[in-house]
Amino acid sequence: MQNEAWLRIGSFLVVLMVMMVWEAILPNRVSPVANGKRWLSNFFLVFCGAVVGRLLVPAGLAVVAIFADDIHFGLLNVLKLADWLAILLAVIMLDCLIYWQHRLLHRVPILWRLHRVHHADPHLDASTGLRFHPIEIALSLVVKALGILLLGIPVEAILIFEILLNASAIFNHSNIKLPNWLEWPLRRVIVTQAMHRIHHSQVVKETDSNYGFCLSIWDRLFNSYTNNAQAGDDGLVLGLKDYPSESSNTGISTVLLMPFREKPNNKEI
Ligand SMILES: [Zn+2]
Repeated sequence: MQNEAWLRIGSFLVVLMVMMVWEAILPNRVSPVANGKRWLSNFFLVFCGAVVGRLLVPAGLAVVAIFADDIHFGLLNVLKLADWLAILLAVIMLDCLIYWQHRLLHRVPILWRLHRVHHADPHLDASTGLRFHPIEIALSLVVKALGILLLGIPVEAILIFEILLNASAIFNHSNIKLPNWLEWPLRRVIVTQAMHRIHHSQVVKETDSNYGFCLSIWDRLFNSYTNNAQAGDDGLVLGLKDYPSESSNTGISTVLLMPFREKPNNKEI
C-alpha cells in the first residue's frame, strides 16, 4: 500500500512537472490574468481535495475493491475473466463512468454549482486539470466507490486508473498545442488539449460537449463530440461568461465559496 501511494504521488509530480515545463517553453496562448494568484487558488483546491480524500477513504478506494472481491460481488468478480482482460476492461469501464459523471455535473443544476468552479478558470493550464471543488472530489469518490463495487473492479485496475485519470487531466488541460500530424491520429483515441479546450469555451453548446477525460471514444459513441470550436482553437474564449473578472474567478475564498454564492463576485466591473 505504501509503495502504491509513492507510485501515485511520484507519477503525479512527474507528469505535472513535464507539462508545466512544456507550457512554460512552448505555450499555446497567453494567460489573460497573472498566473501567481490563479496557481495559488488552483493548488489550494488540490490540497483541499487531497485532505477530503484522506478523510473519506483513509486507506484508498482499493479497500472497496478488496471487499467486493472477498464477497464475490460485482460484474467482473462474477465473470471470472483472465486477470489481464479484467484489468483492461475495468480501466475502460471506469473511464466511461467518469465520462457520465461529467455529463451529470453539467446537466444537474446543483452539481453544476460545484463543477463551475473548474470551468470559471479564465485560462487553461496543467493547474486547471486539478482545480475541482472539494465537495466535487468527495462526490466523485462516492461515485467511484459505487462503480468499483458494482463492476467488481480488480484492485490493480484502481491504481492504474487513478494514475491514468490524474495524468490525463493534467495533460489535456495543459496550455500546449500538439503538431497536426500528432493531434488528429491521437485524438481518435485519447482526449487532446485542443479537443478539451472546446469543452472550456464560453459558448454553451461547446461547453456541453467533449466531456471525455482519458479516452475520446465516449464522446463519439454517445454523441457529444465537437470537432472544432466556432471561433477556432486560437479564437475561442475560455472560462465562464458569468465570471469575467479576476475577483469573480480567482482567489482562495472565491473558489471555495463559489458553489454557495447566487451571484458572482464581480467587484472590478
Ligand atoms: Zn466540465
